[in-house]
Amino acid sequence: MNEIKEVMRKAPRNREIINELMKLLGARKVSDKLTDLISYSHDYWPITFQWFLKGEVPSLPDAVVFPDSIQDLIKLVKFANENNIPIYTYGGGSGVLGAAVPEYGGIVVDMKKFRNIEIYPEDMYVEAGAGVNGMALEMFLNRYGFTLGHFPQSLYTSTVGGWISTKAIGQFSVKYGGIEDMLLGLEAVIPPGEHLIIKPDPRAAVGPDLKSLFVESEGLFGIITKAYLKIWPYPEKRILLSYASPDLEDALRSVRKIMISGARPAVIRVYDKVETLKWFYMSKKAKGRVGTIIVIEGNKDLVEAERRIVEDAFSSSIPLGEEPVKYWLKNRFNVREISDYLPLGIIIDTIEVAVGWSNAINLYNDVINAIKSIEGTLIAFAHASHFYPQGVCFYFIFGGLPGKEKGVLEYYNEVWSSVMNAVIKYNGAISHHHGVGRMRSKWIKKSIGESAFNLIKRIKEAIDGKNIMNRGNMVI
Ligand SMILES: Cc1cc2nc3c(=O)[nH]c(=O)nc-3n(C[C@H](O)[C@H](O)[C@H](O)COP(=O)(O)OP(=O)(O)OC[C@H]3O[C@@H](n4cnc5c(N)ncnc54)[C@H](O)[C@@H]3O)c2cc1C
Repeated sequence: MNEIKEVMRKAPRNREIINELMKLLGARKVSDKLTDLISYSHDYWPITFQWFLKGEVPSLPDAVVFPDSIQDLIKLVKFANENNIPIYTYGGGSGVLGAAVPEYGGIVVDMKKFRNIEIYPEDMYVEAGAGVNGMALEMFLNRYGFTLGHFPQSLYTSTVGGWISTKAIGQFSVKYGGIEDMLLGLEAVIPPGEHLIIKPDPRAAVGPDLKSLFVESEGLFGIITKAYLKIWPYPEKRILLSYASPDLEDALRSVRKIMISGARPAVIRVYDKVETLKWFYMSKKAKGRVGTIIVIEGNKDLVEAERRIVEDAFSSSIPLGEEPVKYWLKNRFNVREISDYLPLGIIIDTIEVAVGWSNAINLYNDVINAIKSIEGTLIAFAHASHFYPQGVCFYFIFGGLPGKEKGVLEYYNEVWSSVMNAVIKYNGAISHHHGVGRMRSKWIKKSIGESAFNLIKRIKEAIDGKNIMNRGNMVI
């Protein structure tokens, strides 16, 4: 333990906790093994990997617990509340902004034992434990002829509770929506130790919509234990289309037409000229152009109608057929570049934001130019992969080799600041689906405004007066 440096820890170690937790939950469900403490000290925030390479960790918890019942969680939250001990809820640990880092030590609660799944076929929803793994849930539904339609790139490593807590969205979002569109109800254990049940209704106008309070709450209000999510019949037919457009503006104009028409292809991905080289490498006609891939799926009659709308919207672009889409479908979960390049000193990260159509091209140009102008940048490119009649989500990717003088952290912060400031200038959302966590917290107030920020603080104080839930996150 002595050789490990904790870079973010903000509270003294509490050695008493472990014995008390063992009495409370039973020794089998509690760990203070160093390997567990290290494993649960971080999520997938790239900065933490930089620290690991130097033998540093963000912040070790005092204990990790593996509860398997509501009763366990009620006892745990009561104990933590009475003794002012922070609780950090942990799903798959695939968050990319440090939201799960146990900054003030305390207890990390692993939720993976909450993994029951039950389908209600007539009412078209599924009940899933908060710890259910994304791919396991989708495979289970497929076996019975259904799909959730939720395919984040982290499908194999994220959980139902994490999805709600970060407001996740999947690659097939244009048709199926984000997790907020699927959520019918949920259960949670909230301070000072109560079981909260929000039942699944097709729609309810009976007081404020409390389930929404937990969407993108990043563990601040309680521990989600299960969710009720809408399901769809497994698609009857799938159509794959791709196009090469002269430039980004032209491709986005075509997508806007589709979105306004009311057609909802499941997947639309527009790559800028740089990223087109990667995903359309097999097509000479795509070189120097902007590539778009489209997947239309669902009822066989509806998809044919949507095909006609898409073909009409892209009539001025070059059709490139199915091959680029098949290549994307095969490779869409491969993210090994990030960990391959880090040991070489190259930092790669992604920043996703949302903006209205009227500012889309200006924001894209400003962000790419700003990142490229920062010393150390090797590459900056983007795609747009989630669309609305009102606007678009850009997913910026950058890679840099900062060099010895500047250091990774300084370079990384410079890039993030330049992107966040550009988004605020164009009145966009500083996050579209990864959330706030530790990385974005310094911009939250500027982005949503002081009155909204203060209201979140007041809600937090009312639910969790002692601030035990995810202490330090979002700086709330
Ligand atoms: C390679 C890669 C690709 C990704 N692709 C996508 C993508 O396509 N779309 C997308 O939206 N995101 C994506 N992400 C981000 C990440 O996967 C999502 O944010 C995901 O929803 C996090 O889920 P998790 O279970 O891993 O949560 P964790 O990382 O464990 O936790 C995230 C936050 O939620 C809280 N939390 C977790 N479980 C609970 C619970 N039961 N109750 C209360 N709070 C809880 C934690 O305290 C933390 O604040 C990607 C990440 C990686 C590494």
